Amino acid sequence: MTTTIYGTPVVQGAAFAPALWVRRPELPAETAPALALEAREPEVSRFLECANTVADNLLNRASHTNGQAAEVLTMTASMATDRAWTKDVSTRIRKGIPAVQAVMAATARFVVMFETAGGVMAERTTDLKDVRDRVIAHLQGTPEPGIPNATEPFILCADDLSPADTAELDPHLCQAIITQLGGPTSHTSIISRQLGIPCIVAVRRLGEIAEGSFVLVDGKDGSITADIDHDAARARVAEDRERAEKVARWTGPATTSDGVRVQLLANVQDAPTSINAAHSGLAEGVGLLRTELAFLNAAIEPSVDEQTVSYANAIEPWKGSKVVFRTLDAGSDKPVAYATLPEEPNPALGVRGIRTTGPHPNVLQNQLDAISIAAMAHPQTEVWIMAPMVSTIPEARWFVSLVRQRCEEFGVNLKAGIMIEVPAAAILIDQFVDIVDFVSLGTNDLTQYTMASDRLSPDLAEYADPWQPAPLALIRRVAEAGVRLGKPVGVCGEAAADPMLACVLVGMGVTSLSMASGAIAGVGAQIAEVSADQCRAAADAVVGAVDPGEARHRARLALGL
Ligand code: PEP
Ligand code: MG
Repeated sequence: MTTTIYGTPVVQGAAFAPALWVRRPELPAETAPALALEAREPEVSRFLECANTVADNLLNRASHTNGQAAEVLTMTASMATDRAWTKDVSTRIRKGIPAVQAVMAATARFVVMFETAGGVMAERTTDLKDVRDRVIAHLQGTPEPGIPNATEPFILCADDLSPADTAELDPHLCQAIITQLGGPTSHTSIISRQLGIPCIVAVRRLGEIAEGSFVLVDGKDGSITADIDHDAARARVAEDRERAEKVARWTGPATTSDGVRVQLLANVQDAPTSINAAHSGLAEGVGLLRTELAFLNAAIEPSVDEQTVSYANAIEPWKGSKVVFRTLDAGSDKPVAYATLPEEPNPALGVRGIRTTGPHPNVLQNQLDAISIAAMAHPQTEVWIMAPMVSTIPEARWFVSLVRQRCEEFGVNLKAGIMIEVPAAAILIDQFVDIVDFVSLGTNDLTQYTMASDRLSPDLAEYADPWQPAPLALIRRVAEAGVRLGKPVGVCGEAAADPMLACVLVGMGVTSLSMASGAIAGVGAQIAEVSADQCRAAADAVVGAVDPGEARHRARLALGL
């Protein structure tokens, strides 16, 4: 009998091969007899030597690779020689604790600190634990832990992967990566995207997969199937290869198989690289220009003139098309020196997005002036402006009135909208849609706030998943309001980049999908395979699913995929 377990898919693709688990050392006892006084300094030296060897090995490997792989190896190497960590270990040894136990205790302390800091810091705990295991292996004179030495294709299983594990994976041998922990932004995900290896994270029941057993990994719905008929599994892999070939051939614009147009746009930041990449790619326009990314490193607010130049550069390439600006979304995971409060106990629920205009009213006014002046210079591009994190009707009214004032003052035709990222806005959506020209669903935050789960937490990946029934229900509610009231509803969160979810969103009534430009072909090719009726059937099918796995499964059946 076949068994199927589910996780959060990160990289599409299907693979069938034996499962191999990453070697992890058994950690020794946490306590050991105290060192004699005269043994302590030599033990500190031995520890420092082992930590340096680990760093040297990682740096040596970094020098033989490039891109993000080299970056993550270099970053891990720096952790092995991090002054605060090595000092903590050395102090413990000087108190008589043997090096192995001192490394374990110091690491445990740093892991707690990183987890308390949350977000990206919390994701670095995997890297630190990896450094711990490597240093302990050297202290004990055993080989460094890591991926199995395989000569035949395999599927890599792990609790979580460290950057050092994944950096040099051979995609010809490693057919897929599946991990019990990890989130969509963990190193496992970053590296598997870079290598194009199918990847599923947060597979809670992964422990059920036995070493050496053949499994079918399917990134389409995040499923892992054991004890499956080998011919059926190989057929699924062949079918997926065809999909990849279709994606490579797809050139747009996007339509369903029965000719319904769907606008596919790019998410960009106002740095020339991402705008140029989007423009030379398959995007029809820009669906989310994250203006804050240009502000993040600025100590003081850029002047209106500086902003105008930057916005004009962003608008200029898109004649005959549209650019959707999002006003400054400062705060929480995107702190901006001059626009966020320095210390908030709970910044994700704090003064972020449009709320920063309370303490800093001029920042938004200046930004709107700069966008308007840039729009005046490029009248052939449609300029839309939306505010992030809107949660009350007066906020929406006020924002729209500011944009309308600019239209009069500068003689430009700007559309005014809001992002729907807070459940409050989705709940009262009809009233919001009435006020604005358009809305755009920020599904990353909408999911985070609906599920009360940090979108960056590696431990909460299955909660912070837009396929969860609750965010799906809110997304549907918003899309239906747009259809009913005749206003465009876009999606600009990561959900838009998931080809199967994109079909569900179209079925719900979403009119445009905005994503990293590299994801457009995958989404466009998938939409081309299905009819508008199938999309609607998928939107209906996910209603009533109890979890993301079931929702994906139901959508897949309805779409005939
Ligand atoms: C979102 O929340 O979905 C979104 C697009 O905004 P950001 O990811 O920049 O918070
Ligand atoms: Mg957001």
